[in-house]
Amino acid sequence: MDYKDLLKRAEEKISKELTTEGRFKISEAKVLVQGNNTIVTNFSEISSGLGRDSRHLLKFLSKQLAAPGSLDGNRVSFLGKFTKDKIDNKIKLYAKNYVFCSVCGKPDTKLIEEEGILKMKCEACGSKRFVKRI
Ligand SMILES: [Zn+2]
Repeated sequence: MDYKDLLKRAEEKISKELTTEGRFKISEAKVLVQGNNTIVTNFSEISSGLGRDSRHLLKFLSKQLAAPGSLDGNRVSFLGKFTKDKIDNKIKLYAKNYVFCSVCGKPDTKLIEEEGILKMKCEACGSKRFVKRI
């Protein structure tokens, strides 16, 4: 293997790492208040950015906001009026509780169920911890 190959390898490695990092992003909520409803228009983008199921995130937000919510395609509608800041903060709280590894702080985690117990498994450091069901 010559220098050129080594360089190519290094570049591939870097771009792979960038992709892994780039995959994760907490999108800011796009919020629309209509009458007594608050609509998050980019809800599916937010949940896919977090690598989580929309329904799981919705369940969490509904509970946190104490408002029923319903999914409609890419958007979600909550009964009640909420500010974008409030929704963004709840999404960050969700990420803290259900996405980021508490050991290494990386977002490369998965929710798994073992013997009826919900756990978060970290792909980066291999740690597992219990998570509360929503
Ligand atoms: Zn970890």
